Parts: sequence; C-alpha cells; structure tokens
Amino acid sequence: MNHFEYRDGELFVEDVPIARIAEQVGTPFYCYSTATLARHYRVLREGLGDLDALICFAVKANSNIALIRTLGLMGAGADVVSEGEMRRALAAGIPPERIVFSGVGKTRAELAMALDTGILQINVESEPELRLLNEMALERGKKAVIGLRVNPDVDAHTHAKITTGRKENKFGIEWTKAPDILRLAHGLPGIQLASIAIHIGSQLTELAPFRAAFLKLRELVESLKKDGIVLPRLDLGGGLGVPYEATRNEMPPLPAEYGALVKEVFGDSGHSLLLEPGRLLVGNAGTLISQVLFVKKGESRNFVICDAAMNDLVRPAMYDAHHDIRAVTEPAAGSDYAPFDVVGPVCETGDTFARQRPLPPLAEGDLIAFATAGAYGATMSSTYNSRPLVPAVLVKGDQFAVVRARPTYEQMFSLESVPEWVEQG
Ligand SMILES: *Cc1c(COP(=O)(O)O)cnc(C)c1O
Repeated sequence: MNHFEYRDGELFVEDVPIARIAEQVGTPFYCYSTATLARHYRVLREGLGDLDALICFAVKANSNIALIRTLGLMGAGADVVSEGEMRRALAAGIPPERIVFSGVGKTRAELAMALDTGILQINVESEPELRLLNEMALERGKKAVIGLRVNPDVDAHTHAKITTGRKENKFGIEWTKAPDILRLAHGLPGIQLASIAIHIGSQLTELAPFRAAFLKLRELVESLKKDGIVLPRLDLGGGLGVPYEATRNEMPPLPAEYGALVKEVFGDSGHSLLLEPGRLLVGNAGTLISQVLFVKKGESRNFVICDAAMNDLVRPAMYDAHHDIRAVTEPAAGSDYAPFDVVGPVCETGDTFARQRPLPPLAEGDLIAFATAGAYGATMSSTYNSRPLVPAVLVKGDQFAVVRARPTYEQMFSLESVPEWVEQG
C-alpha cells in the first residue's frame, strides 16, 4: 500500500495535491511519501518479530539525506557502497555502529575512512581486499571488523543486470573457495571476522532463491562451527522485490513472508542478523512527476512527449523496467484509453518510458506521475543533455518540503573551466 491516491479527481501524496507541489517547485521532480516509507520499514520490522535483527537501509536505492534520516530515526542503519554514501549516512545521523560498508571495489581511501570511523563492519568481497584490510588495520594498531561476502551460487530469477549471486557474477567470494578464505580471515591478526554476508540480487519476486541461499549459508556456518569458528552475526543482504504494476499479477512475496522465512532458517541459530533492503523500503514511496510537453500523433504511433527523460529515471531504458503512469488529474469515468509511447526530450531512442501504453486523453500541460520511482530513480540520474538533476520533495501529512533543490545552471557549470591555452588556438 502507498499514499498516492486520487481524492476529488486529483492525485494526492498523503494530504497534499501533487498539482500544488508542481506549481511551487516546477517539473520534473521526485516526490516521496514519509508515511509510505515509514510503513514499509514497520511492516518489515514487524515481519521479523522478536528476531535480533538490524535493518540497514541500502543507501544506493535512494541516498537523499532526509529519507535516510527518516529511516534512521525509526532505528534503521545503513548499507553503503562508497565513501560518498558513508558520508551521507553519517550526515543523516546514522551512528557508525549501524553502518555496513559493502562493495566489490573499495579504494584504500575508502577503507581507511571506514576503519577510522569505526563502522559496524566492512563486507570484504575478495582475498586481495582481505589482505589489504588486514595490513591497513595492523598499521593502525586495530582489528578490522569484517563480514566476508560469499556468493552462494543460486539463481535469483531476476533481470540479468541485477542478479548478483551466481558464480559468474563479480560479487563476493566463490562458494567453493569460501571455507578456505573464511579460515584465512579468522587467522589474520588484523581481522576480526564477525559475519558472513550474502546478497543474491535485486527485485526478486519469489522466496525460493532466498530460501536456497539462506540454507546454504546456514550449512556453511555450521561447518565453520565444527572448526571452532563462531560468528556473532549473519548478513542476509537485500533484494526483496516490490510490485511495479498495480494491474498485473507480478506480486513479490510480502515482507511478512520473507520475515517468516528468515525466522524459520535463522531463528534458533544464535546469530544476530543484518538485513540490507533498499528497493523494498523506498520503491513505492516515491513518484516522478512530469509535465506533458506535446502530444504528437503519427501514422503508426502516437507519442506523449514529457519533460522528464531517461537521465531522470533510467530504469526503463536500462532494465526495460515498467513504471505505471498515472494522470495527475483523475480521468473521467468512461474515458477512452488509447495506446501511446511515452518519451522524454533526450536525443536517444532509448529515452522511452513506455511503449504502446494505454493512457487516458492527455493534453499539453497535463501532469503525469511515474509510479514506484523511489528506488534507483534519483540515485541513478545524470545530467545527460545538460539537464539539471531534478529536485526532490518530501511529504508528511499536509506538509511538504524541497529536500533537494534544483541546481542553477551556474552551479552546474561551476566545476568547469577553460584553460588559457585553449584561447591561444
Ligand atoms: C544493492 C544492494 C542491496 C539492496 O538491494 P535491494 O534490491 O534494493 O534491496 C543490499 N546489499 C547489497 C550488498 C547491495 O549491493
């Protein structure tokens, strides 16, 4: 459930009409609902029951500081994959002891910052990273607290670009090598092996791959125990999918079902647990609002050309992803829906949000909303075609605020300069 609904013929976010925000902020813009975000966190939390589990929000899904802060105040930690994300989490007030640092290619500077900040754990993804971190910790007279990310080699049945848990993926330590590297990690003087971590992919729409990965993880943990290696924590990653289509039947498992599975496999294991959901928490809490620039009727196709583009929301171009599109003014009952291609102004054929999508009558100036754009929307946006990054608005009840401003062109160009010798020809 989310809080984007029609009231009196107009699309609202919680208690605020979207048209009112658009008037004030201009289009396009991302709009987030606090109530939806909070609800998703609570539902997952409740699904885990009395398990000793920390929910570390995967910041790469949406790194807006106001959103991270909202989750942090509810008790969430953060899963970060770069120094920038770590700094954002800290800026949002997430305590270091609730921060996990994941990622296959951390730089020395990033590892140094993680060590010096004293975060909860660094998830190590390769043997060279393990050895480097060991050295860096010893130089500092410390132990690096780590999770070792292993790759359980299960098929998550998700889009090829977002599957991560097969042996041909770049992530984690190969399953067959994991026992040796875990023993190595356990013996290194600069390393405190605190956890094993897995993360098998994103937008998973069934529980079976989670179950397979969890069972393999549990088996691995038990075999380590026989060698006297006992870990306090297990990190189960993220990946639970969200429904992108209100009308079709692609229904991912409910957070409660996922929670029940976690309890079933790990409830009596004696470990505390880390979860790293991203999309699940923010996906349906965000929408991208755009204005129709032109309606272009062609011989074979009709186009809705809007002011948002692939640089603002790349998921359709990159993953063939579906986003429901709603007219902000509620279509009159009995409106004739006709198929349209919905496209942006960017000079790429890939700048297409939807092909042959049945839409109600739309005209120049009308507002449309791309639903379920809260995850991997704003964070994957770019300034391609020198389009400024779009602002973000956070709504709570009848209040709203711009939580990321639209940059001016001066700000956009401020890091660039023309060397003198360019002038000399
Ligand atoms: C991306 C990522 C996540 C979050 O994935 P979602 O599908 O958004 O839940 C969690 N953990 C790691 C290590 C990731 O890379």
